[in-house]
Amino acid sequence: MGPGPSDVNPRVLSAMARPTIGHLDPEFIRLMDEIKSLLQFAFQTKNKLTIPVSAPGSAGMEICFVNLVEAGDKVVICQNGVFGMRMADNVRRLGGQVILVEDEWGRAVSPQKLEDTLGEHPDTKIVAFVHAETSTGVRSDAKTLCAIAKKNGCMTIVDCVTSLGGCDVNLDEWEVDAAYSGTQKCLSCAPGISPVSFSDRAVEVIKSRETPVSSWFMDLNLVMGYWGEGQTRAYHHTAPVNALYGLHEALLVLSNEGLEASWARHEKNHMALKAGAKALGLSFIVPEAERLPQLNAITIPDGVDEATIRRELLTQFNLEIGAGLGVLAGKVWRIGLMGYASNPRNVLLCITALEAVLSQYNAHINKGEAIEAVRQAYSS
Ligand SMILES: *Cc1c(COP(=O)(O)O)cnc(C)c1O
Repeated sequence: MGPGPSDVNPRVLSAMARPTIGHLDPEFIRLMDEIKSLLQFAFQTKNKLTIPVSAPGSAGMEICFVNLVEAGDKVVICQNGVFGMRMADNVRRLGGQVILVEDEWGRAVSPQKLEDTLGEHPDTKIVAFVHAETSTGVRSDAKTLCAIAKKNGCMTIVDCVTSLGGCDVNLDEWEVDAAYSGTQKCLSCAPGISPVSFSDRAVEVIKSRETPVSSWFMDLNLVMGYWGEGQTRAYHHTAPVNALYGLHEALLVLSNEGLEASWARHEKNHMALKAGAKALGLSFIVPEAERLPQLNAITIPDGVDEATIRRELLTQFNLEIGAGLGVLAGKVWRIGLMGYASNPRNVLLCITALEAVLSQYNAHINKGEAIEAVRQAYSS
């Protein structure tokens, strides 16, 4: 129950244990095509260039920037946590000019600030932001931010690593140009793959670059020869065959459940965890309207060492929760309710274990009410 990797669905693990076949085997190519259409379903897009990158979420981030940014390009980065900082670093390394729109950690990106910044920088090429900031548990209003970018003639890059499968992601409705995600958050697949999607407009921009993409491995012009539409597939790199069996299975699990049902399940378990945490006397740092159901940043009661509590949860209950990052280090715990791990059993385990360990360390909490609060949340 940390910020990822989440518990991998056993169906995914057994899919990954199947025999490895060739990365150009006709059966594997059929599986690749299915993965592409399942990813289109998950991202809610018709984008033809919707593929899994053979590397973790950070590589998904990098493939978006390295293909779309050329030296001298102006890129507005909305930064309200760790992952926005990494986006800015990507742009700087590519020789782009970074304009930051900064918001407090624990708050959503301010649409007004973005609007003002784009007014001051009308020559901006790209706006990038993180939809679900895993470092703080904040959801930004992707639809509004994309509309502002579009109105100002900018392309968009959206980090959907923690949002995909856990809450609404709708690339076509939002008119996103490039999005990337990860497998180990709400898809509950093993880590190591990054689903990405590019609009036709983004593909045109990539095809008509003035300079070649600086990374050979990530140059989508070359990757398309393997993952692309229609043409015969050519060797680019050896796909992580078994990892893709896992992703295929994880996407089938999501499509069997349905997107809306999955989001509703994440919401329901979040509400139950919230009820339990509140009954213990712990609070959320993110304002209610900006909270992510899949990542809960919860305050640490006075008088306890947060690392000790996490260690005890792990050793006594085999339960992992996350520490705070950056300015929130030592101030919050990050409790993940992602994908397969978003279930009532985990909510009850987490609240029970927190109450037991916090009591053991004489923390100032309310005792004896939390389980009933969780139960009531589920029955209401
Ligand atoms: C986890 C995460 C990433 C990075 O993914 P890795 O698979 O660890 O490289 C990027 N952005 C967000 C918002 C994340 O939560």
